[in-house]
Amino acid sequence: MKNCTLDYNDCTNKKTHCRKCTRSTDPGKGELTDHYVSPLDQVNKIYEFLHGFKPKLSYKKAFSVIYFLQEHIRCLPDHIEQCQDCLELFDADKEGFCLSNDYELDGKDLPEKYHGHWCDNCVPAVDFQMK
Ligand SMILES: [Zn+2]
Repeated sequence: MKNCTLDYNDCTNKKTHCRKCTRSTDPGKGELTDHYVSPLDQVNKIYEFLHGFKPKLSYKKAFSVIYFLQEHIRCLPDHIEQCQDCLELFDADKEGFCLSNDYELDGKDLPEKYHGHWCDNCVPAVDFQMK
């Protein structure tokens, strides 16, 4: 065993792990358990931290800070989205929908009321199609 010296974000590469790991750096060994934090968990921790601020930030405002860190500072993965209905975060690479004019409903542009990010539980129950 030797401590890996890789940057934190390299933890998502299953052949490597973060600098706090004590697992072998041999790609065939070890599991992503020690100090592995998934991108969704990383953003969720910041999300809850921001929501717990005094004065308290709403979940929408907390996510606007996360959005800034994702899109302008680029220090957080940008595939973590906030469901516009339940406000839960989800990994858009694995679940949920980002509805926009790229979709249609009954052969017409998808109405704007359906646009936005939706988790699997809250996605509108209409028969939208990718254009
Ligand atoms: Zn939802």
